[in-house]
Amino acid sequence: MQHRITLIPGDGIGYEVSLAATRCIEAAGVNIKWDNVLAGSDALDKTGELLPESALDSIRKNKVALKGPITTPIGTGFRSVNVAIRHALDLYACLRPAKSYTGVKSRFKDIDLVIVRENSEDLYAGIEYEEGRPETKDLIEKIEKDTKKSIRADSGITIKPISKFASERIIRFAFEYALKNKRKKVTCVHKANIMKFTDGLFLKVARQVAGEFAGKIIFDEAIVDNMCMQLVQKPHNYDVLVLPNLYGDIISDLCAGLIGGLGIAPGANIGSDMAVFEAVHGSAPKYKGKNKVNPAAMILSGALMLRYIGENKAADNLEEAVKQVIAEGKSVTYDLKADPLDPTAVGTSQMADAIINKLREKA
Ligand code: NAD
Repeated sequence: MQHRITLIPGDGIGYEVSLAATRCIEAAGVNIKWDNVLAGSDALDKTGELLPESALDSIRKNKVALKGPITTPIGTGFRSVNVAIRHALDLYACLRPAKSYTGVKSRFKDIDLVIVRENSEDLYAGIEYEEGRPETKDLIEKIEKDTKKSIRADSGITIKPISKFASERIIRFAFEYALKNKRKKVTCVHKANIMKFTDGLFLKVARQVAGEFAGKIIFDEAIVDNMCMQLVQKPHNYDVLVLPNLYGDIISDLCAGLIGGLGIAPGANIGSDMAVFEAVHGSAPKYKGKNKVNPAAMILSGALMLRYIGENKAADNLEEAVKQVIAEGKSVTYDLKADPLDPTAVGTSQMADAIINKLREKA
């Protein structure tokens, strides 16, 4: 069966890691017709738009996309193309597995965590009031009148909306994911002791949804600052974490650090009927065009994509091939060597070649 999938190579290191990923995915034996679309700085140069509607339309049509990282432009009205794609397509669940791989230097072994981050609300909703503007002054006046609390007149304000609707769907997603993937525990991470009406609501909904899964999935809750310490000290105590948007962003980088870095941290943004798969890392502009960075995070995002489209065998084979190449430690990029200056480190495309060879040996 042929799958039609949107490919957004992104910018910065995006082209290199996307090419490595598509080559490996095809070598896993899956028949894919890629619809190549531009977004990011190249799209801006060619079309005058950072996120052309045609890119979103392609994802709406194909329902699945593989996306390279995109640089967040500085000094344009756009906050982030990545966030804009998630919002435009209502990809409300961000799934980020953090798994140890033998051969990667890291503080811990055998970590197997899954982060489920809410993707649509919280401080990432993009509702901001710039310091000094008339509407900001109006808002400050209203807040002072309603709350009897004072806000300095020279403040900027970012709004943090958290709804029952979005909390329930992400928490349900986390529990259903846990059930489907034979996980044992879901931990709700929050700061409800301080933000009673936003994180407090998230936690209240989590407790309600957890009740429906009682006896099947253990429910646990943790305040985000304590969670950071617990993860750094005892990461094996955790399984699936469900978090509002901002904490999810921060904790997923922390977990990438626990397993040995961004080079092996894959991700997915999932909505009710479509999904975009992308690595946790960004566009690392300083490495652009150098054939230097690790393609594994993007390839493992491709493996998540293969599972999403039902190509489980190919996904297993692809993940196994990545695992073997990393474990052997020969044909790996600089970040997976004990010494990042090790001259035997290979480039992005050579690591992809080694993964393809493993897949061919198995075929
Ligand atoms: P980054 O993830 O791009 O890079 C930080 C550092 O991590 C790099 O300098 C490099 O040392 C290391 N690194 C990242 N990816 C690697 C890889 N595949 N292999 C080996 N090492 C790797 O983060 P940044 O520098 O903060 O962000 C650069 C740009 O990317 C910014 O504009 C940011 O907004 C954007 N960004 C995009 C996404 C996305 O597209 N989803 C995600 C995060 C950041």
